[in-house]
Amino acid sequence: MPPESLDLRDVSDARVLAAMETVPRELFVPDQLREHAYDDAALPIGSGQTISQPYMVAKICEALALRGDEHVLDVGSGSGYQAAVLAELAAEVDTIERIPELAELARANLAAAGYAGVRVHVGDGTRGLPDQAPFDAIAVAAAAPRRPQTLYEQLEPRGRLVVPVGRFGTQRLEVIVRSPEGPAVRRSVACRFVPLVGEEGF
Ligand code: SAH
Repeated sequence: MPPESLDLRDVSDARVLAAMETVPRELFVPDQLREHAYDDAALPIGSGQTISQPYMVAKICEALALRGDEHVLDVGSGSGYQAAVLAELAAEVDTIERIPELAELARANLAAAGYAGVRVHVGDGTRGLPDQAPFDAIAVAAAAPRRPQTLYEQLEPRGRLVVPVGRFGTQRLEVIVRSPEGPAVRRSVACRFVPLVGEEGF
């Protein structure tokens, strides 16, 4: 059980706070970094990638406003941590990772932590998962140069896409709701993610 030391600042959604307390982050970080598992920091997981900062995971989950019955797509599996938190908040989770070794890592971590029901796919997540679409919510854990149109089109009506948008260095978390008038966009906190690499990425 994670200690209360997780620094979630302005996150107030009770379901998100409970999910963050439930998922054992130490099972998603490399053994030698376990003592830092509850630091409010991104940590290296191999292949030049990182497990996201807990605060950002909580912000993304809160922005998705999940109630429990949704089908969610998680883009950028990495360690599998965010997918595990999403599995606590929704009914079904598909996650996609472009680096096969990390998809394997995510699969192993998710199984070890008791989230074997999460489906891990290998591929370019900027193309989404057409065979599993539509989704009630899509979380992207890597920075996109612009709003990913294909992912938007794989949302259900009123579905939500949360994605860091901007250049290398710093980005802005965008919360995009699919609506009949087109994307309704709210800009949330500043953030710093690894780049989304792919057809509709960098
Ligand atoms: N959600 C992860 C964060 C991993 S960092 C966690 O909780 O640990 C972002 C991940 O996105 C990296 O593993 C990177 O390889 C992956 N990624 C980058 N571009 C991608 C793309 N187009 N499709 C799928 N995964 C991508």
